[in-house]
Amino acid sequence: MLPGPTIIRKCKACQGLFKQRTLASGNTFGARFWTDGAIDAPMLPNSSLIVKCPHCEAVDFLGGFEEVDWFYTYFVTPFGDTSRDAEREANAQKELYYQNTPYALESDPDEWRDYTRRADLPADSEMIGRLLLWRFGNDSRRHTDLYVPMSVDEHANLSRLAELFASSDTDGALLLAEIYRELGRFSDAIALLEKTEWPKSKRQAAEIIKALAKADDPQVCEIQERRNWEFHIEYRRALRRAGQ
Ligand SMILES: [Zn+2]
Repeated sequence: MLPGPTIIRKCKACQGLFKQRTLASGNTFGARFWTDGAIDAPMLPNSSLIVKCPHCEAVDFLGGFEEVDWFYTYFVTPFGDTSRDAEREANAQKELYYQNTPYALESDPDEWRDYTRRADLPADSEMIGRLLLWRFGNDSRRHTDLYVPMSVDEHANLSRLAELFASSDTDGALLLAEIYRELGRFSDAIALLEKTEWPKSKRQAAEIIKALAKADDPQVCEIQERRNWEFHIEYRRALRRAGQ
């Protein structure tokens, strides 16, 4: 896992600058994957997509804060290579210039909720906020095979997310099918899964979501790599209990 460049962003509300850490590479070794698209990866930390300005606490999707500058967090060249010395020096100057610039603050689920209710919010930003809220709610269901019904708020959030996905041109058919399933709209989920030609990378998740929908099971479930996944539905449901 290598840190990527440090990005400098500017807040629209207060014009203040802040830093954002990025990741140049991560890997999903030892990661756990879930039907709602959540990934629990030790080597791929979740950097929050919705952040808070450290000066005025304005909350926005990262892309809503303009990127104004960046520098390498680590400037690495092969030993003895002096061809990039000038660039290295310029990078060091920048790092020094921004040394007292604070980092972005993390935001919490209450702030995501307020964010999604903003009147002037573009659909793709609302989608991100609602996606985070959905997965946050599902955290209480990942490691239990007991049925944990959604709260009224969670259901309303997920219904709105379904509308957003259905009218968006993003490649979100698999997530939309999962949303339908978790809303208890099993036949909508199955119809969508069956009419889509899935690439190999998504086929297994699509099969698991379909099997769960056919079993009238609305709960988030872990997806595990298996060579032979012609296994019984009960096994798939048991995946939720894995790691308890
Ligand atoms: Zn601000």
